[in-house]
Formats: sequence, structure tokens, C-alpha cells
Amino acid sequence: MRDYLIRVLPKEINFRAFGVYIPEAVETARRLQNLSPVATAALGRALAGASLLSADLKFGRVFIQIIGNGPLREVLAEADYQGNLRGMVRNPQVYLEPENKKLPVGKAIGSQGFINVIRDFGLKEVYQSSIELISGEIAEDLAYYLTVSEQIPSACSLGVLVDIDGSVLQAGGFLIQKLPTTADEEIFFLEEKLKQIRPLTTLLQEGKKIEEILEEILGEIEILETRSLRFRCSCGIERVEEALIALGDEELRSLLAEGKPAEVTCNFCGQVYQISTSRIEELLKILKERKGHV
Ligand SMILES: [Zn+2]
Repeated sequence: MRDYLIRVLPKEINFRAFGVYIPEAVETARRLQNLSPVATAALGRALAGASLLSADLKFGRVFIQIIGNGPLREVLAEADYQGNLRGMVRNPQVYLEPENKKLPVGKAIGSQGFINVIRDFGLKEVYQSSIELISGEIAEDLAYYLTVSEQIPSACSLGVLVDIDGSVLQAGGFLIQKLPTTADEEIFFLEEKLKQIRPLTTLLQEGKKIEEILEEILGEIEILETRSLRFRCSCGIERVEEALIALGDEELRSLLAEGKPAEVTCNFCGQVYQISTSRIEELLKILKERKGHV
């Protein structure tokens, strides 16, 4: 097991915390979508963020959508309760020069836009909330979202280190959240610790595990749960057909008029689906039957 998520409880102070390590999932996404270095860093951070938010899930999945005024335009990351991750960026080929040896994720996303968090518990209960971006760096935006929108004061760090050849060396993150019992001096203590700690990717590159990094910040911890994570796309022919049906009668007829199979490519994993003309005719029938029932 290489990629994983941990849920931890510090023994000495009153917080709850989560950590993720996902270099393989981010590298898989990079290869499947041919992501540029800055797109890899942005998607990797978003995937780490979605993984952290999925830690509490007993069922369903969580989505993070970031829409900004930068050249990437949109980043989408999804994590489900079983540890399956997937995500995409709207413009995977955006190249921006590093600034102070760091890939400028904030610039690529843009500082104007919004972050949208959707929690789908799989029982027709979907919770959705969004907030304006403050930096486009993702960790800061996510912490701000959790603090303001969900009213849980949170500290978040997300990091991706990309090698010279574009491959992923490190990817991970942590989230530390206030509990109702957290005292003011504990918050002050945490803030000081977070100021002192070196960048997450530096620590990971030195070989530190995410649990060791959390221990450096929080003191002794108890690991409540370890969950393995992986990049796995949830696309399939059924979903593709549903998406085609959702296009409606007119669109399906114009596809049919082209007289050749329709080709649909999954934006997340690159899988190509071919839908024959006879199947499109069947989908039209299904659409008509459903309309008849309404
Ligand atoms: Zn797919």
C-alpha cells in the first residue's frame, strides 16, 4: 500500500487531524491526462484536499470543484468512502515557469473565482456549498472554506513535488480541525507550530511519513484509521449512455444523422467509448419511454 489516508487524534491537545499521502494517484492522473507540471501540482493538491474531506465518509463521495480566472480555468477532484480518487483540470497543457522554485498554482488557478464542495452521501442527500477563492493556492482556500462555510476552524497544508521530467515525486497533505473542547491557548500553540514547520514537500522528500509530520506538529498521536487510496475512475458504458440520454432527443437525432458510431472520451481517465448507431436508436426509445412515464 503506497497511497493512504490516516485519521488521527492527538494525545496531548484537543484537535482532530487527517493526513494523506498520494504520489501514485497523482502520477497516474498525470500520465492519463498528460498534465503539465503546474496542472499536476494543482490537481494533486485538489486530490489531496478531496481525500482529506473524504476521511469522515461512511458512504458516498466528496467533490471539490475550483473555478478560477487563471489559465487552468477549472480543477475537479473527487474521493469516495472506499478510497477511490479521480480528478481533472480543464486545460491540462498550461505551462507556467516556477517562481521561487515553486510551481505557481495560485497563478494557474487565479485568485478570483470560487471553490465548491459537494458531499454526496449516496442517499439522495447532497450537501453543497461554495465560497470565493482567497488565493487559488487550494490549501488556503479549503481551510477558509471549512472555517467560514462549515464553521469548523481548520488549518490545511497540501503539497505536490514534481521532478524535472514532470513525474510526481511527492504528494500529500494534512488537515487539522478545532474541536468544541479546544482551548484558545491550544489554537495559539498550533499556530506557532505551523509557522515553524518546514514546507510539507521538503519533509516528505526527506523521507518523513505524513504521520511523523503530524506528530512533529501535534505531539504524540493515536492513529484511529488507515485507509488505502488509489486513482480509479468510476466511468463506464452505463454512465456514458445516461449522459447521452441526458442530451435529449434533438442531440441524439443529430448524432444519428451523422451515420457513424458516437465516440465519447472520459475526461478523467481517457477511456474511449463507442456507441453504435443502433444503440443510439435504442437510447432514443428509452428516452421516449421515460418521457411517457412523466
Ligand atoms: Zn473514466
